[in-house]
Amino acid sequence: MVFTLVLRVRAIRTVRCCAFDAASARRLLMPARETEAIILKTFPLGEADRLVSFLGRSSGRVRGVASGARRLKNRYGSTLEVLSHVQLWYVEKETRELVRIQQAELLESFHKAQSNYGLSTGMAVVSEISELVLPEHEVSEPMFRLILLTAREIERTGDWALPLSYFAFWTVRLGGWLPRFDRCASCDTPFGSKPAFYDAHQPGLFCEKCRRPGMKPLHVEARTLAERFTGERLDRIEFSAAMQPSAKELREASLAWIEHHLERRLATRELLENA
Ligand SMILES: [Zn+2]
Repeated sequence: MVFTLVLRVRAIRTVRCCAFDAASARRLLMPARETEAIILKTFPLGEADRLVSFLGRSSGRVRGVASGARRLKNRYGSTLEVLSHVQLWYVEKETRELVRIQQAELLESFHKAQSNYGLSTGMAVVSEISELVLPEHEVSEPMFRLILLTAREIERTGDWALPLSYFAFWTVRLGGWLPRFDRCASCDTPFGSKPAFYDAHQPGLFCEKCRRPGMKPLHVEARTLAERFTGERLDRIEFSAAMQPSAKELREASLAWIEHHLERRLATRELLENA
């Protein structure tokens, strides 16, 4: 606070002696911050601007305004696309919740995934979940790396099936919401090679006897895939067509647990069915 006051006095003096404009004075008060970031979502704001939600590696999830980003010719180019990996410069305002984004440079483009309808649906699921599970202003290096790895693999492989399963499973794991995979949450019976059952109404996995109506199965193959996900990095897992049903089961179960934790349905989940 003292520091700010000193700067303010200095800024006023500067304004007086050198006729700086008000904007220059503000820039002196609030130096621009810089962070590596992933763009989570953008919304139109007024006629010319965009509201941008991003996950900064050093800032956590932050919302800001990109002025003029909706104009045909703007300085942001394709940097504000969903899951773009960028370097961002922004200014915080003391009294407002939104920061002002000054500049963005693209570090890594996921152009193929962003421009293809099917792939962009997978990207939208990652974006929606990240936006909902990440608290504002809380740095999360594991989630930052997970989102980046997922986007890279969707772009590289041209398929969201395995990356999205991995992302959903790890989001549940990092959130601390993963149930026991070896025994029933209700009666403690080991599953062995038998299927376990889940739904979005409770956090656990249940045995054949304790399952409730409407619960879906998580077969032993899907539980084994979860073990692989725990120990191997996504970009080192060779995806075969035979893994498809297990990847889908594990993805569906993980999305159900995410919805259970968030206490809401994911809007993008339905789109996946048709993507
Ligand atoms: Zn049971």
